[in-house]
Amino acid sequence: MKHEIKIPRQIKLYELICLIKHGEAITTELQKQKCYGMFLKDKNVRHIWLDVSQSSSDLSDTFIHECLEFINQSTLGGELKHRDIVAISHGLHQILEQLRIRFVK
Ligand SMILES: [Zn+2]
Repeated sequence: MKHEIKIPRQIKLYELICLIKHGEAITTELQKQKCYGMFLKDKNVRHIWLDVSQSSSDLSDTFIHECLEFINQSTLGGELKHRDIVAISHGLHQILEQLRIRFVK
């Protein structure tokens, strides 16, 4: 992959900060819940959890997906259906892969 972009520790949407977490404990928790990533909002703190044990391509896809969950919850009032988020994130992921851009841990 030509352009490997390191997944940052946090991302911001307007004034909203979302912390990005991964590691052994996060992977164990996600696997327990049978998912590869998760967006959580606890009071005013937003988190994206990522299972970094998945393949590098799948991790990039999951990161894009969870960013869309963050956008949906923060600026669209959760109006996007989950299947829309899945379709848009898979589509963006495919396009970015063709451009040889991948988000990595
Ligand atoms: Zn989702």
